Amino acid sequence: MAKLQTHYICQSCGYESLKWMGKCPECDAWDSFVEEVTLKEKPGAAGKAGGLGLGGRAIVPASGGAPVPITEVEATAQERLSSGIGEFDRVLGGGIVPGGLMLVGGDPGIGKSTLLTQVAYRVAAGIGEDDTTAAPKPVLYISGEESAQQIKLRSARLGAETPSFLVSVETEIGIILHHLESARPALAVIDSIQTMSDSNLESAPGTVSQVRACAAHLARFAKAVGVPVVLIGHVTKEGNLAGPRVLEHIVDTVLYFEGDRYHAYRLLRAAKNRFGSTDELGIFEMHETGLLGVDNPSAVLLAERSEGGTGSAVASTLEGSRALLVEVQALVARSNLASPRRAVTGMDPNRVNMILAVLEKRVGLKIAEQDVYVNVAGGIRIVEPAADLAVAVAVASNFREQPVDPATILLGEVGLAGEVRAVSQIEKRLREAARQGFTKAVLSKHNAARLPKNLGVKVVGVATVNDALHTALLPPLRSETQ
Ligand SMILES: [Zn+2]
Repeated sequence: MAKLQTHYICQSCGYESLKWMGKCPECDAWDSFVEEVTLKEKPGAAGKAGGLGLGGRAIVPASGGAPVPITEVEATAQERLSSGIGEFDRVLGGGIVPGGLMLVGGDPGIGKSTLLTQVAYRVAAGIGEDDTTAAPKPVLYISGEESAQQIKLRSARLGAETPSFLVSVETEIGIILHHLESARPALAVIDSIQTMSDSNLESAPGTVSQVRACAAHLARFAKAVGVPVVLIGHVTKEGNLAGPRVLEHIVDTVLYFEGDRYHAYRLLRAAKNRFGSTDELGIFEMHETGLLGVDNPSAVLLAERSEGGTGSAVASTLEGSRALLVEVQALVARSNLASPRRAVTGMDPNRVNMILAVLEKRVGLKIAEQDVYVNVAGGIRIVEPAADLAVAVAVASNFREQPVDPATILLGEVGLAGEVRAVSQIEKRLREAARQGFTKAVLSKHNAARLPKNLGVKVVGVATVNDALHTALLPPLRSETQ
């Protein structure tokens, strides 16, 4: 017999308590506990779920799990399903893995449904990447957010209509599992996991218990039948998916779809990926006809750069397997605050503070009494130190009113002694710079010593930040306002 129990569950991390608490001891969230009635099932009775005959069936690996020498394990690459969208496949590590459970999270209104409608359509219609054609496959799009008419309107706007694209408006997980079982689609999309509910539970949809239970049912279905299932999840104001950590343990892949809803660009990143790396980045542009993958992101990111001004430097950063050129902007202005302002977007502020200290102490820039703003243009976040030199040069450029040579790219980690240190995969970064029309690269002399000749850019190796400033900065602008 199942036993009913009342618990208070933290909606942020899934921590359970018998009493209500103001602050979660696990994740420090305030006012996050909600009373939920949970069904405690006896061990062994687990998995009556859904009543679809899936329950209780253990998934036994083909080998029976008996120990075998690693030399005899066959390394068969798993056949992946192309989403038909190159940028989406890239982030997944080469396509959708059969039987995988994937979570696509993001702010409401960012375009998650649009993206997954496009994926669903392309798989259903058999349109591969680069518009190659394959056999149409049934895809089931289950929505608890919208009516069939609303889905129809969006599909029509996106030009995403084909008979094998099946839609269902449903929120009860038992019925959904039934539909999935009878349709056996090539791909299923659940929009969104927070609207789904298991009628065996008394908690409201969207609570941790419901989200966890529904995701677990879908995971079991995906694994048993080999159908990939995509869950759409909304991110809360705090930047968390409702019940994020509990979901992250259940799913194989977590993708975040981010960007500013008022701007056209959207970034897709993997936060967890059991089937590939987590450092690939997909870049999309929002059009009236849907999201389009951006083929040449460097050109897009640099498109609005104003050449010839001060406080702008270009770095080449690695996002997964591809090099991306990004503009680092700096503004230095006299401060009227006791402790001047340091505002940074797109980078680690501590890293920027360190670079400012190096500029002050090793280069002799008197910026301690200045407000300094550093921004990475285009909503990109740089996590590697290779852009340090670009930050140092952008700040010095604006402070000294000397423009950065617009055809120069800056690459290097800045050390505390003011030295410029080598960065990895330099050739890939320089090839991308040459492709975008840059003719000169300023980088560590250690990198420069080991480079082949024909990279298409003139390489200048430097030892210190000071040397880099001499090489990269043009003569001062004559200021008209002073
Ligand atoms: Zn918590």
